[in-house]
Amino acid sequence: MLEIFQKAKKGKYAIGAFNISNLEQLKAIISAAKNLKSPVIVSTSQGERKFIGKKKIKALIDVYRRETNLPIILHLDHGKSFEVIQKAVEAGYDSVHFDGSELDFEENVKQTKKIVELAESNGIKNIEGELGYLRGKSSLQEKVEIKSEDLTDPRKALEFVEKTGINMLAIAIGNIHGVFKSGQNPSLFLDRLAEINELISDKAGLVLHGGSGTPEKDIRKSLEFGIVKVNVNTELRIAYTETLKKVLQESQEVAPYKIMPPVIKAVQKVVEEKIRLFGSDNKI
Ligand SMILES: [Zn+2]
Repeated sequence: MLEIFQKAKKGKYAIGAFNISNLEQLKAIISAAKNLKSPVIVSTSQGERKFIGKKKIKALIDVYRRETNLPIILHLDHGKSFEVIQKAVEAGYDSVHFDGSELDFEENVKQTKKIVELAESNGIKNIEGELGYLRGKSSLQEKVEIKSEDLTDPRKALEFVEKTGINMLAIAIGNIHGVFKSGQNPSLFLDRLAEINELISDKAGLVLHGGSGTPEKDIRKSLEFGIVKVNVNTELRIAYTETLKKVLQESQEVAPYKIMPPVIKAVQKVVEEKIRLFGSDNKI
């Protein structure tokens, strides 16, 4: 496990993983991390990394690391095949997430194990696997119902970690991707989280996907039970898009560099709120 996660585990806080697909979002995240002296994870999902390009994002991250001296981790979010992970490793990603959650248990174990071998042989210390069914997508959406069979089974989680050798596990404990149009997302099943953590806390850190819209008190509580990484995407997308729409409606400006600063500020504000909520401020 990367040192930032070992520290987070000990200190009972989490590092935010923030998704981006362009430079403005990246600027916002780095400014927030710099302001609050927080380690940060920059994450790209399939569509996002296709848009910005893996080598280009890696080059940008390198520049920001040199400029700021911040611990910035470049992370691959929801890689669904060996080839995808391999390409990210070759491009210089620091951390990878293999999402085999749609596969049956044995196949998920088999494929995740291969990813662990690939990542380890390339010096990647952080390998996230996934178990359990996460509903939703990273946007505003209608209500979805969470069924008890969606949730990660604690014993299976232990078996999964032991058999695959991963050091980070994404779990389903009532979290969803995206934010409900009607307002707040469902509460987390914290008892289930506690059970999972009890069994695997000395073997892996736990990851909460769907950090957007989840009740803040649940997130705070989850930090006591082994959550060391929280993924946030939808709230950043909404802040970006809503602010951009407003700016364009209210002005005749045509220079992008004059249009974008309020958009960047709006995203930065959300990132700062999340960093404080996760407790990773003043940790460097
Ligand atoms: Zn996710």
